[in-house]
Amino acid sequence: MKKSFQSIILAGWLAFAFMPSLWGQTPAFPWPEGKKMALSLSFDDARKSNVDLGIPLLDQYGIKATFFVLPAAVESNLTAWKKAIAVGHEIGNHTMIHPCSGNFIWARERALENYTMDRMQKELIRANEEIQSLLGITPMVFAYPCGQTFIGKGVHTQSLVPLVSEMFLAGRGWMGEAPSDPHYADLAQLTGMEMDGKSFQEILPLIESASKNGQWLVLAGHDTQDSGNQSTYLSFLRDLSEYVNDPDNGIWVAPIGTIAQYVNETRMAIADTTNIPELVRADLGNQLILTAEKGRGIGPDIKYMPDWKAFGWFTSKDKVVWDVAIPSDGEYEAWLEWSVSDEEAGKEFLFQAGNESIRGTVEKSGSWETFKKKSIGKMTLRAGYVQMEFKPAVEFEEEALLDLKEIILKKVD
Ligand SMILES: [Zn+2]
Repeated sequence: MKKSFQSIILAGWLAFAFMPSLWGQTPAFPWPEGKKMALSLSFDDARKSNVDLGIPLLDQYGIKATFFVLPAAVESNLTAWKKAIAVGHEIGNHTMIHPCSGNFIWARERALENYTMDRMQKELIRANEEIQSLLGITPMVFAYPCGQTFIGKGVHTQSLVPLVSEMFLAGRGWMGEAPSDPHYADLAQLTGMEMDGKSFQEILPLIESASKNGQWLVLAGHDTQDSGNQSTYLSFLRDLSEYVNDPDNGIWVAPIGTIAQYVNETRMAIADTTNIPELVRADLGNQLILTAEKGRGIGPDIKYMPDWKAFGWFTSKDKVVWDVAIPSDGEYEAWLEWSVSDEEAGKEFLFQAGNESIRGTVEKSGSWETFKKKSIGKMTLRAGYVQMEFKPAVEFEEEALLDLKEIILKKVD
């Protein structure tokens, strides 16, 4: 594109989104009310100290947390847990019997290695039903016991993530290494970072880094008391709450489900105006749609233009690369959607997929503002992963090749 840079800067957050971040052109995530980061506090196993000490303390500060409960543990303090829900705390599913790897001797009788997917699914449904009948709510979020996301062993190992993704809005792990990126993180695999046994000074650098990077920090703990094993200290919670409640720190604190819902909705709202390179998979109609949003612009001048949903400033040294999963062997027809001014039209392009390529000439579309779609040729592709590239076929001195919106690959019957 050759028009002035000004004309593509939109009002509101789109302009903000155009500011490049450390990673390519990923925009800063728009947290509500201009907050810098999101924070969720979560506690596992429905420990007694949660209702006795942790929840009353959090309530003093008006902070709502997520509690991943085992139905049997909830039963002994029903009134207190119901009260917690009434003031806005969230209850999550943590299975019925807390299966973990049999590598823990205590878990050997309910070892994940000996589970089947069917057994796990029944257990998760059962836990939801029990929680519903005890507390009157159905959990929307899940925490993997021991943070472990597998069942089976060796060649029989399977991931629990697809099941959790299907059943819940979010799934949280344990002992994660970094906060979750709201643009990118799989909500079924949110990292849970340990707050047990920590002082506020130990966690503060993590909060500061999450704030700088606009991330979502999910802290995870167990008991809530002054001391002891697997315990989030009350002194820590007090210091943290005071810090979080200082509006200058710009922290949105809310239960995991609340933030997951916001992240989902925001991702959907900005999906086609945000360039986040992603593996292209066949859609339901078995088409591969290589959008600009999913491609990686590589080169000195190329830029993703959110309001056009296209790559512009496509000069001689620029290219766009996609990671693509070809669903099946066969011949595919490629359709290009582009725009170009009449003066700039006529340069040669190359579209490559492994050893296959299509060479052609960028035809006139009418203007930079008019996008046109046309078949550019066919290529034979094999099922599996391939990297695809669209670039100029020959060097040219100045101006641009085209603005590239997308390439569609349709299988030829
Ligand atoms: Zn647990």
